[in-house]
Amino acid sequence: MNQNQNALTTAPTVEARDLCLTYGKQPVLKNLDWKLMPGQVVGLLGRNGAGKTTLLETLLGLREPQSGVVQLLGAPVAALSDDNRARIGYVPQRSDLFEGFTAQQLLDYFKSFYPRWNSDKVQSLMSRWGVPANQPIALMSGGQQQRLSIIRALAHEPDLLVLDEPVASLDPAGRRDFLRELVDQVLDRGTTVVLSTHILSDLERVAFNVAFMRDGRITIQAPLDELLDQTRQVSGNSAQVNLYAERSQAQILRIRSLGDGRSVAMLKISQSQAQDAAGLNIERTNLEELFLELA
Ligand code: ADP
Repeated sequence: MNQNQNALTTAPTVEARDLCLTYGKQPVLKNLDWKLMPGQVVGLLGRNGAGKTTLLETLLGLREPQSGVVQLLGAPVAALSDDNRARIGYVPQRSDLFEGFTAQQLLDYFKSFYPRWNSDKVQSLMSRWGVPANQPIALMSGGQQQRLSIIRALAHEPDLLVLDEPVASLDPAGRRDFLRELVDQVLDRGTTVVLSTHILSDLERVAFNVAFMRDGRITIQAPLDELLDQTRQVSGNSAQVNLYAERSQAQILRIRSLGDGRSVAMLKISQSQAQDAAGLNIERTNLEELFLELA
């Protein structure tokens, strides 16, 4: 069963309804609705400060919204059982590792809390990802600490894995390959994964779904391939652009005036409807252009 079929037949792993959260006078989550289905791998995209960390913390029950509800693994997050808590892996943006420990001491410590712990996987990831077992954590590089934090979150084979900017401390060359490997680690088990980032190249080979966060909400969520196949940037005479959108039954995601009666629109359009039209410039987009327009 692929992940989209799966999504049709099962209950969500995470469901947020009507979340509102304000810091002082600054609203960060505004009536936000979101669902993550079992086995989905979702990249959460948004500018710095869009509220991604706040959202992830709220989904995990680490932050209390002013209103709205979160259901996690089928139960209200406020009443999460220990069993369900043990089914979640979380890698926060800022590492919360005990710096006086070695990696081995840290992992031994956490192992005692989880009924399920895959020691073979831990050993194999430690050697493959180059994390020294016996060096104090304080002396490891930022990238090694981040990898250790991820190994810790994978060790108990969670059903839901939440990663907040998981590769922020890694060098650019290794980021995408590392993420690919990380996702491969969880795919076989059907783990639901959500990872936040503002670096688009991280997602292009990793996330099967992307969700855009903007103005306190999830504005669009779709499989990445589908999103790119069904999006066109159309520019030209404003009236013609509007007419094209209407005739092709496209959804206008965003429209901007270019001056002189000309506009550029980002359209969601079915592939069969996306025909050329005289006088208009119609182009496919990449994730970066989409992000600039939507996030
Ligand atoms: P992102 O993860 O997308 O960068 P954050 O959730 O970290 O966004 O932050 C969203 C907004 O809320 C930012 O403007 C940030 O400065 C503000 N913010 C985050 N945490 C706090 C906090 N604990 N108290 C007050 N403001 C906060």
